[in-house]
Amino acid sequence: MSTVQGRLRIAVQKSGRLADRSLDLIRDAGLKWVKGHNDLLYRVENYPIDLLRVRDDDIPTFVADGVCDLGIVGENVLEEGRNGGANASVVMPLGFGRCTLKIATPPTLAYDSPASLDGLRIATSYPKILRRFLDERGVKADIVVMRGAVEVAPRLKLAAAICDLVSTGATLEANGLGAKDTVLESQAVLIQSPVAPEPALQHLLDSIIERMSGVVSSQG
Ligand code: ATP
Ligand code: ZN
Repeated sequence: MSTVQGRLRIAVQKSGRLADRSLDLIRDAGLKWVKGHNDLLYRVENYPIDLLRVRDDDIPTFVADGVCDLGIVGENVLEEGRNGGANASVVMPLGFGRCTLKIATPPTLAYDSPASLDGLRIATSYPKILRRFLDERGVKADIVVMRGAVEVAPRLKLAAAICDLVSTGATLEANGLGAKDTVLESQAVLIQSPVAPEPALQHLLDSIIERMSGVVSSQG
């Protein structure tokens, strides 16, 4: 699949923790748009570019398939979405949206290392990342996938431990859980499609990446 004739597309989270900072970066890179009645697509006025506003979970697929040329998404979502086919590549880390995917346990579970999870059930929204972490350490555990409210799983006896995103730790604490080993350190990244844009747009794509890179490095 290729992009719409004559325009580049950048995929950004429609609403949520990455939405505002993603648009700030694009604006700081010199792109201007007006919020139209079209909620899905923001049309950039000063370049042939559209911003596609979607669920963050869809961004890796859209970029991998060439539906979008660039995207801004958390490394956690990118890693979880990896599959056997062509994947989006990371252009650069963006310095925002930082969070950590951690193992967390209730005080009733004796935990020294990932081996303590052997034979237990772990709840997470990130089954692929967690499975790789456990496999690399030779730990055999059952994974139960929850889309949200993972932190309630131990209390409901759905799982003995969880693997969830943490930034301040307040949610864990409120649920009587303690953070243990780190499974993944994550931040927002700029990703690029393996599908080249039409030749007339290649220079624009390169220059947008260049400007974003300038903005990110100026922010230290
Ligand atoms: P969507 O509706 O787009 O699917 P979502 O509910 O999956 O949104 P958000 O909660 O908005 O996602 O989080 C988006 C991203 O922000 C996460 O995938 C992660 O990379 C990052 N993030 C930063 N801090 C946190 C945190 N404390 N908890 C969860 N995600 C965080
Ligand atoms: Zn999501």
